[in-house]
Amino acid sequence: MTNGTHISIAPGKCIGAGNCVEQAEDYFDQNDDDALVVVLQSTVPAEDRARVERAANVCPVAAIILSDNA
Ligand code: SF4
Repeated sequence: MTNGTHISIAPGKCIGAGNCVEQAEDYFDQNDDDALVVVLQSTVPAEDRARVERAANVCPVAAIILSDNA
């Protein structure tokens, strides 16, 4: 049984496109200074997985990495 999904951001990849925020604004925000992604909560319960996966998929530089917690 898995314990949810963990969000991490690949260092140096985000270009501040904001697509992820549009898909899941309760998980992703953008830094006021440089518009780079800020993860608001890094643990994703199963019911939010599809939405967060969509956010990862629309990132143009594949900066959002999802991993399953064991
Ligand atoms: S993580 Fe990807 S989608 Fe989100 S702001 Fe950065 S570049 Fe845009």
